[in-house]
Amino acid sequence: MKKLVFATNNPHKIDEIRHLLGSTYDICGLSDLGFTEDIPENQTTLEGNALEKARFVYRKFGLSCFADDTGLEIDALGSEPGVFSARYAGEEKSSLKNIEKVLSKMHDAEDRHARFRCVIALIADEKEHVFEGTVTGEILSSPVGDFGFGYDSIFKADGYDVSFAQMSLAEKSKISHRAKAIEKLKEFLRTGK
Ligand code: IMP
Repeated sequence: MKKLVFATNNPHKIDEIRHLLGSTYDICGLSDLGFTEDIPENQTTLEGNALEKARFVYRKFGLSCFADDTGLEIDALGSEPGVFSARYAGEEKSSLKNIEKVLSKMHDAEDRHARFRCVIALIADEKEHVFEGTVTGEILSSPVGDFGFGYDSIFKADGYDVSFAQMSLAEKSKISHRAKAIEKLKEFLRTGK
């Protein structure tokens, strides 16, 4: 089976990908290669960060690999927190504080439009490919729901009456930004297109 490295140390993400691609590819994470350090993420765009991470791993291990980067883009905040989503309220990367910061900056903004955007960069056979998945929705005025992580409790997808944090993982995975980007990666690996 062909080996494909996912440039992450997040075991949840590896499980998710193995579930989706597992039977056709031998997916391994960075810890499977004995690498447990953080990979550099110094770019100002999601695409830039995903490519930077994939290039780092490709250079270091010489194996086909992919990396992802995700951000929440809020129209009223000029697409913030975007590439800074994880550390919007500081390096401790607290979801609670990030949500508080978003809600206080949104204040009583009328325009609540937002989207999650996930970018996956793949390097295989010396070539780079980028896949993107988005889900559009709106920012709620206060958190609702107990499932999920990050900004799930303040995000309601278009066409739904509940927040991401009120959906089961199976429900969220049918419409999420990450699922859409992974679907494109999967299709490319299957067909080369
Ligand atoms: P990452 O690039 O996947 O690590 O995502 C960066 C940050 O975006 C995370 O730390 C979360 O705060 C946020 N984020 C990414 N995906 C989701 C999601 O599906 N729901 C809620 N927040 C998310």
